[in-house]
Amino acid sequence: VRAGIDLGGTKIQAVVVDDGDSVVGQARRSTPTHGGPEDVVEAIAAALEEAAKTAGARDALTGIGVGSPGHVDSATGTVASARNLPNWIEPFPLGERLASRFGVPVRVGNDVGTAVEAEAALGAGRPFRSFLGLWWGTGVGGGIMVDRHRWLGRGAAGEIGHMVIKLGGAKCTCGRRGCVEAYAGRAAMERRVERAQKGGTKTRLFELMKEHKHDHLTSSVWQHALDEHDGLAERLIERAIQALGAGAASAVNLIDVEAVVIGGGLGMRLGEPGVARIREAMLPHLFVDERPPELRLSELGDLGGAIAAARLAPSSPTPAR
Ligand SMILES: [Zn+2]
Repeated sequence: VRAGIDLGGTKIQAVVVDDGDSVVGQARRSTPTHGGPEDVVEAIAAALEEAAKTAGARDALTGIGVGSPGHVDSATGTVASARNLPNWIEPFPLGERLASRFGVPVRVGNDVGTAVEAEAALGAGRPFRSFLGLWWGTGVGGGIMVDRHRWLGRGAAGEIGHMVIKLGGAKCTCGRRGCVEAYAGRAAMERRVERAQKGGTKTRLFELMKEHKHDHLTSSVWQHALDEHDGLAERLIERAIQALGAGAASAVNLIDVEAVVIGGGLGMRLGEPGVARIREAMLPHLFVDERPPELRLSELGDLGGAIAAARLAPSSPTPAR
């Protein structure tokens, strides 16, 4: 069996899968909001131990794959500039640390890229030779599949969240202005809510966060606010959808893929109705508007990122270092 870790800004999801990519054990932990990379390693290890225990497979583990945010060097397993993780700016040897702890080889890959490849092989991307993965969560990530291979460019292709949709627009988490993520990323939206509330706008978003015992405005908090018809939540989600539509349509104008597959925490939470709204928002911006691309929701769902990560892990036992 192999293990997969989906390392996200909100949660750490671990799965243990068999040779057929079927999940035989799983566990979840909250991502530490304080401390640093060492604390994140502790939380990953705890989730992994629990997932292996539920699978009854602690000793049968042949490898671990990790889908990580930030700048991932997959050759060395080092991760840097993971802005949605606590104090994780300098390169940190995540793969090496987990390999010595579990005594099996570890492969680290980019979280969204890995998930998009898994959709291509096992999920919503299967019918298409080319598609764009649009992952709407804490940030806005992406991946481009061309002829069933992921287009990597010089290593950083697919950053649809940093397509500029408004010159001199809102400040983005990347430090630049006017990116899709500045309007649609959960982290950027949370800061926007803070400012609006300070400016006197009424919203129940932060109350709902406390009532449901979350540290951040998670996708479930946004859903609760939408269910209550919270005005600010509705306006900011609409603004995010318009930003995603403009960004995705611009990308399609450039690369003309057959489909757009929507995933990520908020993408999955808003589900098919959200996909329909993104489709609508794309239409005015499509250059060839008589044949828009198909839009699909990710099929691998909540465990998709972790299952995708497990596919990175070596499946045959090799001696641990
Ligand atoms: Zn940006």
